[in-house]
Amino acid sequence: MAAQKYKVNLLGAGVSGLSTALALLQTGRYTVKVVATHLPTDLNIDYTSPWAGAHWRSYADIADLEQQEYDAATFRRFAHLAETEPKAGVMFLSGHDYWEVKPKNFVDPWFKRIVPNYRHVPLAELPPGIEFGITYTTVAVNAPKYLLYLQEQVHARGGIVERATVASLKALAQIPHDAKGSKPDILVNCSALGSRTLPGVHDLQMFPTRGQIVIVRVPDELWPKAKQFTMERYSEGGAMGTGKITYVIPRDNGEIVLGGTMEHWSTDEAISEETTKAIVERVVGTRPDLFSKATVLRSCAGLRPNRRGGVRVTASVEQLDWNESWTPNSFVVAHNYGHGPFGYQASVGCAQKTVTNIEDRLQALEQYRASSRTMSKL
Ligand SMILES: Cc1cc2nc3c(=O)[nH]c(=O)nc-3n(C[C@H](O)[C@H](O)[C@H](O)COP(=O)(O)OP(=O)(O)OC[C@H]3O[C@@H](n4cnc5c(N)ncnc54)[C@H](O)[C@@H]3O)c2cc1C
Repeated sequence: MAAQKYKVNLLGAGVSGLSTALALLQTGRYTVKVVATHLPTDLNIDYTSPWAGAHWRSYADIADLEQQEYDAATFRRFAHLAETEPKAGVMFLSGHDYWEVKPKNFVDPWFKRIVPNYRHVPLAELPPGIEFGITYTTVAVNAPKYLLYLQEQVHARGGIVERATVASLKALAQIPHDAKGSKPDILVNCSALGSRTLPGVHDLQMFPTRGQIVIVRVPDELWPKAKQFTMERYSEGGAMGTGKITYVIPRDNGEIVLGGTMEHWSTDEAISEETTKAIVERVVGTRPDLFSKATVLRSCAGLRPNRRGGVRVTASVEQLDWNESWTPNSFVVAHNYGHGPFGYQASVGCAQKTVTNIEDRLQALEQYRASSRTMSKL
């Protein structure tokens, strides 16, 4: 007889939620129902994932081995998808990081050991206004296409994806897991900025960092070269400090994402024409050969789900409600949110870690349940 599968209700259908749903289903040990206000193809400032660039450029500190593992696992999966799965919208390209002012005591990033073709850019090859640069092979993801691919993979393994707004963590536990009305065993929270206000989570470390982007096309004859090029350019002060960040990320449909801004605490939906102009000017100033004839298609803005103290990837056993005989109902409650500017590039690693965290708590769940059964007989 097939072993009983654990039932998972999962909140959130961004890249974090769908990647986690897929990782759980891939083990064959869980059934998964995803519930979310926003689903792939929706465009809303409260749903970050469709707005991302999204390229792989790890920001993990040299000492942060956990974040490095999340990013490395994702790079390996994305590289595999770029080689084998055109439907996923992932492609290889040449990454360039440029500094207007050479950082003092520059230390090569940790990812030098996993990306192919890492090297410092010789002075003669640097664009005007750049003192220092590195280059390496990386990947870029067509974000809206990848979300649809993930959703399709979830469906293909029997997962359900349903639109619903959830009022609290407890309310997630009360959503019937299937048509028979079964209760879930496991709750997973991938609600990103929603975690700030969601009762039962209420994580005040969460805050939005607005990013405005501009989507352009280049003339057809430049596309073969432009689709090979992704960059980040840092002005003095760095992107996370007072400085500006400028980036270019092509998508496999011929569109190119130009960025950007890092506006902490701003939730402004209105597009600033001045910012659009400034972004285009900075990109054209860096690579006039590729972008001086670019056509602007549209400008948009998204909110990075930032978290003071870093991403929250945890699991524990919690008693959220009571059954008819007034004994507590226990659930494994897992969290995977707060990815800020790296939600795509860490997505596979964070999803895999969430699965491990859940599996580590299953024995404790069974113990809690056994003691609840004993209590109910007293
Ligand atoms: C301009 C920009 C550029 C970026 N570039 C990159 C990049 O190059 N590389 C990279 O790795 N990352 C990049 N990012 C960051 C990346 O987009 C995010 O980290 C990632 O999308 C976060 O995904 P998520 O699934 O955690 O959140 P979201 O996509 O916001 O998903 C949250 C989900 O939770 C649901 N939800 C929340 N509360 C509730 C509730 N109460 N009830 C029901 N549903 C709820 C929402 O409806 C949604 O489905 C960029 C972001 C921006 C804005």
